[in-house]
Amino acid sequence: MVRVPTKLVTWEEIVEWSMGLARVIKESSFRPDVVVAVSRGGYVPARLMCDFLLVDNLVSLQSQHWTEAAKVAEKAIIKFPYKLDLSGQRVLLVDDIVDTGDTLMLARDFILSEWRPAELKIAALQWISPVAKIKPDFYYIEVKEWIWFQYPWTRHEDTVQFIKRILLEERGKEWTYEEIRARFEEGYGIFVGDAYFRLALESLVELGILERRGGTYVAKTV
Ligand code: AMP
Repeated sequence: MVRVPTKLVTWEEIVEWSMGLARVIKESSFRPDVVVAVSRGGYVPARLMCDFLLVDNLVSLQSQHWTEAAKVAEKAIIKFPYKLDLSGQRVLLVDDIVDTGDTLMLARDFILSEWRPAELKIAALQWISPVAKIKPDFYYIEVKEWIWFQYPWTRHEDTVQFIKRILLEERGKEWTYEEIRARFEEGYGIFVGDAYFRLALESLVELGILERRGGTYVAKTV
């Protein structure tokens, strides 16, 4: 049985944490000209930084490490290494969380060598201090024990992945909606709400991973 310590993060918490992070930045002497969102996790926090710090300029860079929920890929990569001239600009590089730190280190090094800003600082809502290889210049929450944060912007994809893992453990078994829900809550300790749960089951059927048989669901064997 898969068990992953997970915390469901609400939109309200995201606004509160982002406002807190913006305050930490404001209390420093750093005033960014451009915000760079690390795609995809940094999009919402970066947009909120622009709002709370009144910054107009927002671009993004896709540096990817974790390909699916709570499963790390081998290596971080810059997906679309485009050219940009940021000479003379003070850059705030924003992500949701620093876990291993690989994604951010890669994005930082790429920006410094290719986009050549005058200055670059890193901000993240959360920093998992015992495992991260870097400490962001600005963060709002220090996480002392590893946990998977189920952010609102990955709620659907995480739910799809989590349900898939549960059902693939027992291929061929017929599950009712309530049984899947109970196993999900047991494994992840969160409930994402019926709308997300039903949407995830629908996506798994569309992806050909699940089969719907009347009122039950079965994980396909091939
Ligand atoms: P990393 O390169 O390990 O610092 O993480 C890269 C990205 O994966 C983060 O910016 C998040 O979007 C996602 N991620 C990694 N660890 C977690 C976690 N514990 N909870 C939620 N998302 C995570």
